[in-house]
Amino acid sequence: MNVTGIEIGKLRVPLKTPFKTALRTVDYMEDVVIVIETDTGHRGYGSAPATAVITGETHGSIIEAIRKVITPQIIGEDVQNLNRIVNLIQTSIFTNYSAKAAVEVAVYDLFAQSFGAPLYRVLGGGEPKIMTDITISVDYIDKMVQDAKDAVDRGFEALKIKVGKDLALDIQRVKAIAAAVSDKALLRVDANQGWTPKQTVMALRELESSGIELEFIEQPVRGDDVEGMKYVTERVSTPVMADESTFGPKEVIDLIQMRGADIINIKLMKTGGISNALNIANIASLYDVECMIGCMLETSIGVSAAAHVAVAKSNIITRVDLDSPSLAVGNPVNGGVTFDNAEIRISDAPGLGIEHIDGLSMMSFDEAASL
Ligand code: MG
Repeated sequence: MNVTGIEIGKLRVPLKTPFKTALRTVDYMEDVVIVIETDTGHRGYGSAPATAVITGETHGSIIEAIRKVITPQIIGEDVQNLNRIVNLIQTSIFTNYSAKAAVEVAVYDLFAQSFGAPLYRVLGGGEPKIMTDITISVDYIDKMVQDAKDAVDRGFEALKIKVGKDLALDIQRVKAIAAAVSDKALLRVDANQGWTPKQTVMALRELESSGIELEFIEQPVRGDDVEGMKYVTERVSTPVMADESTFGPKEVIDLIQMRGADIINIKLMKTGGISNALNIANIASLYDVECMIGCMLETSIGVSAAAHVAVAKSNIITRVDLDSPSLAVGNPVNGGVTFDNAEIRISDAPGLGIEHIDGLSMMSFDEAASL
């Protein structure tokens, strides 16, 4: 099974309600979608959203990196030479992690298809059902409390509360949600880099002394402030999770060794795809540091790949934050992984199992230059 070409397209999916974090507000998700074609007729799917404030990538940069730099490296390669292709992708261009992730996911999809097995099984197997949390967007307190109650009613057992806009109000937000649902759901708080290290320690001491037990606090301080992460981790009993502070395996090693976090949030769009997500899971397990798998605001193509990784590495990926598909109106991606509120199930179909994507129009390589 040899790679013969790549088609590129875009897929836009509206959200049920606007997604609000300390960094941005959006009301739809839109991915660059790629399809890798082969001489056997098998097609591999991959995707990447533009998350400029986190990865520095836009749709334009992702398409250009894939068209001009990454794809020429892998045309003609045998899909079953996975390690060789992964190395070609990872060394083709500096950073550009989302572009690399889109191509890697499509290659892994084909690799598993070439053995007629679902991806998670090729990655080592596992129980093909996982449970995700759901994001509660930052908003007025009453709205957040109502969203939290609705999520619990829909069967979610873990809520990820977005804060980071105003410290005093953030503390009130968490207290109000805890009062309403803490006996029914685990509470995860994501400050999205919105607090300073001292503010974080103050906020967590206040919450801890009020008897509120958070499952973790995620990325309270700026991603590049790893000393700040260490400062917080040393001073609070709530577990601290690194998200924007770690992209690839080397940053994970550094952060773990300096004790700058208790938990690592793995996202394919930060690691550059599946290979380094697996590397991080393996590194973290050496240190007995647990991981969460997360996603960007993105369609269920890339999220499906993350679900396969989570199943195969469930020994160390003990938390799942793959709620993006359940925030969307409908799911245009048919086949493979089913997203049913908190429950994510993977079918026996080979690869990612994607059969058809509604509303997706692919373009040839040259046409994509104008996307
Ligand atoms: Mg986060």
